[in-house]
Amino acid sequence: MSGIDVDREWKLYINGEWVATDATYDIVDPNTTKVVGRAPEATTAQALDAAAAAKAALPAWRALSQRERAGHLSRLADVLAERTPDWVDLVQAETGATLKIARTMQVSGATVDRFRWHAKEFDIDEAVPPFTTAATGLGPAGLVGAMVHRQPVGVVACITPYNFPLTNVAGKLAPALIMGNTCVIKPAPQDPLGILLLAEAVHDAGFPPGVVNVVTGSGPEAPAALVDTPDVNMISFTGSTQIGAKIYENSGKTMKRLLMELGGKGAMIITDDADVGSASQAIASVWGFHSGQICTAPTRVICHRSLYDQTVESLKAISGFMKVGDARADDTLVGPVITEVHRDRVEQFIQGGIDEGATLVVGGERPDLPGYFVAPTLLADCRSDMHVVQEEVFGPVVVVVPHDDDDEAIALANDSAYGLFSYVYSGDTARAYRIAQQIESGNVALNSVQPHMEAPFGGFKMSGVGRDRGRWGLEAYTEVQAISWLS
Ligand code: NAD
Repeated sequence: MSGIDVDREWKLYINGEWVATDATYDIVDPNTTKVVGRAPEATTAQALDAAAAAKAALPAWRALSQRERAGHLSRLADVLAERTPDWVDLVQAETGATLKIARTMQVSGATVDRFRWHAKEFDIDEAVPPFTTAATGLGPAGLVGAMVHRQPVGVVACITPYNFPLTNVAGKLAPALIMGNTCVIKPAPQDPLGILLLAEAVHDAGFPPGVVNVVTGSGPEAPAALVDTPDVNMISFTGSTQIGAKIYENSGKTMKRLLMELGGKGAMIITDDADVGSASQAIASVWGFHSGQICTAPTRVICHRSLYDQTVESLKAISGFMKVGDARADDTLVGPVITEVHRDRVEQFIQGGIDEGATLVVGGERPDLPGYFVAPTLLADCRSDMHVVQEEVFGPVVVVVPHDDDDEAIALANDSAYGLFSYVYSGDTARAYRIAQQIESGNVALNSVQPHMEAPFGGFKMSGVGRDRGRWGLEAYTEVQAISWLS
């Protein structure tokens, strides 16, 4: 645990000031079960103070030119580029990420890149083709022109999950700020310390007070207060569908704008002409990645019956190379899941699948390690009606369901409450493309598990509302205004 000061006093960041709390709660390293810090427990009143500060800061921030706001983001990216390498130990400890993931994906790269990408001017206003009008009671005949102008939404509460705390927050903060909004960040209870370091970077980069605020806490009270208060105009939420549904319901009272990035149960269709080797490699690359705690993972394999045994054997063989172990060891591929409660939940899903008739091919046992570990687990002979096939496990668990033709594969892929990210593996790309167009999923990747980072990202059905990333991510943080004139 080198480089971690367990006794450091952490504070909330509200209106450009560091605010102490009466209570704190323990942040636990899921790899060792040891306490790595004590996070501030914000009261409801402090969450509301943060929202009020963001509201007060809004007029001056939105009045800046985009170039000036881009300057702030650019300075923040510079500060982050310098500091984030020093954050790896702490962020690794609070997230339980393996060394490789902690270095490359939890801190510097993705976080700095998000701010850099957004540190420029974006003109997303657009003209509407002119409209001819006859004389009416409202006015004379003529040509009506219009512009679609984008205004900031206002105060955005960014409520985020535990799996990639910094990248999740950066993905919201950067587009929200460049479009002229001010923010209150409420990170996940399990790993908020890196976000408090981000707040320090924001402060030192010279952002005006109140533009960015951070409140942390273990319970639902502080984020629920942000959902209720009229001082917040928009909730940008990433997290479980269960909490997302609560936010959706509660935010109606103040008619908040919503961007909801929720759960997933990614289908991977393997057609009868697919390359089993590359499909299996692709599944395996995500299967144990961050211990399966990734919303886009292809955990629901829908495999043509003619390739079924070969696929199961191939996945079984690859799992032998997925070393489970101490997250700090260089050769570890699969570290712990975030908490004991979550480990138990994942185990219950595995046992439930076996009880419902699935065949346990590999995994299933609890590794003999001090932290909260789950071995990569493969369940074959699955049916679509099993809980483990329907529900998001958010752990290293892959299920395999057979299909006989493309229509059945599509029907099985769509037999899900979720629709976030799906995959098609086929030797015929045109066939894969046709299949993709029939899958009810916000994103589909063909013969690859690589997302396009500037393509729209988001979910159909219970996987969310709205789209993130690229131009769509900028639009999400704006209100649409039509300005028209007669000529
Ligand atoms: P979670 O839903 O338990 O918590 C997310 C956030 O909601 C936390 O910050 C929590 O404090 C807050 N919260 C809790 N109760 C609340 C309430 N009543 N009102 C407002 N906010 C409240 O999610 P998690 O366990 O941290 O993360 C895992 C989930 O996130 C998975 O379902 C995963 O699929 C999803 N996820 C989705 C994406 C995506 O882009 N679609 C990305 C990452 C994770």
